[in-house]
Amino acid sequence: MKYVSTGGKATPVSFREALMQGQAPDGGLYFPEKIPHFGESFFTKILNVDFRGIAFRVAKPYVGDDIPEPVLESLIREALDFEIPLKKIEKNIHVLELFHGPTMAFKDVGARFMAACMGWFNRNEDREVTILVATSGDTGSAVANGFLGVEGTRVIVLYPKGKVSEFQEKQFTTLGHNITALEIDGTFDDCQQLVKQAFRDEELVKKLNLSSANSINIGRLLPQSFYYYHGWAQLQDADARPMVCVPSGNFGNLTAGLMAHRSGLPVTGFVAATNINRVVPDYLETGVFTPRPSVQTLSNAMDVGNPSNLARIRFMYNLDLEKIRKEIRGFSADDVQTKNTIADVYRRTGYLLDPHSAIGYLGLKQNLPENTAGIFIATAHPAKFAGVIREATGREPEIPTRAVRFLKGKKDTIPLGKKWEEFREFLFAIR
Ligand SMILES: *Cc1c(COP(=O)(O)O)cnc(C)c1O
Repeated sequence: MKYVSTGGKATPVSFREALMQGQAPDGGLYFPEKIPHFGESFFTKILNVDFRGIAFRVAKPYVGDDIPEPVLESLIREALDFEIPLKKIEKNIHVLELFHGPTMAFKDVGARFMAACMGWFNRNEDREVTILVATSGDTGSAVANGFLGVEGTRVIVLYPKGKVSEFQEKQFTTLGHNITALEIDGTFDDCQQLVKQAFRDEELVKKLNLSSANSINIGRLLPQSFYYYHGWAQLQDADARPMVCVPSGNFGNLTAGLMAHRSGLPVTGFVAATNINRVVPDYLETGVFTPRPSVQTLSNAMDVGNPSNLARIRFMYNLDLEKIRKEIRGFSADDVQTKNTIADVYRRTGYLLDPHSAIGYLGLKQNLPENTAGIFIATAHPAKFAGVIREATGREPEIPTRAVRFLKGKKDTIPLGKKWEEFREFLFAIR
């Protein structure tokens, strides 16, 4: 399997190279040259296969010869060692809970798979890399935890000062070891801009062996497609063609779902659900893509004004907007709707939604054709957003024991301005 750049000017590379490089040298994002096709028998079989088994079967053609099959299988068993249950919460509406990993957000899936693969490549080749990651909340914690203690890797997390919840912040600023947190005086877009600029700086890339772990890395994107098959399989109906709603920020999660669909996964369509940072719903409506500065909302992991994976989506559909519109509907909700949905669903069903998942629920509810199964993705555990949940429902979400240890840790960060020169100087000073 070769990976090509959405920029169209880079040489195709193998899975290993695409994962190690992060971004393609022409500034584009790597994408499989051809999505493998899984036939009908694959889908009837996976009705009886567990998540890790499905993940291995899907991963094989994408990884090719870069990782021997028995190694790949054991990397998957170790990295994806938590459950991803599908639960029915009301008629035709199911939730795929992706928040049972160590940091209680769906990014654990991508980050842990990627860290496992990169760790194996590094051990095999005896090299050291520096991973730069910009986060609006959950990426930083998932990546930092995924890579914590992984040999041959140093992780630098950039996050916007005062714009992530205390809970999220604790999950990546208390770890120490090979993890460094930079508290940037700016927005998430500023952080992402700094990371992008670092990758354009050849001297830096060479010196630090820079790699990325943002959702632009194919090593994170690919495993995110695994759970779409697993969600479908849990409906236990070979004829099901569910509508799938994905709460989206950088649109990596949605892209992974589209890849699964392209490979043969039967679905009716996708809803791309966002908060008021609605550049993608606007693009679907008008055909014009206009990046804008992001606006802060309750669903802060989706506060993205220039979603990078749209480049992959457009590439996948050959820039054909009509084709895109046939498979993806846009949806956006504001903070008031988000809170009302949390309150309403709790009152009617007893189910607690975090603000991101609430937008997923509402997007599905408003776009679900009659007599069709619907699946929305729950991207974070409600306990990560206890304040909002409390206000909306009067209830205190229970914090899973695995998260309590973060809250006890001490925050350790390096404060930095948003100027490129300052960041570059910092990077040159390490090691
Ligand atoms: C990152 C994140 C999203 C957005 O996912 P993308 O792949 O960037 O679209 C949604 N919800 C939560 C909780 C997240 O952490």
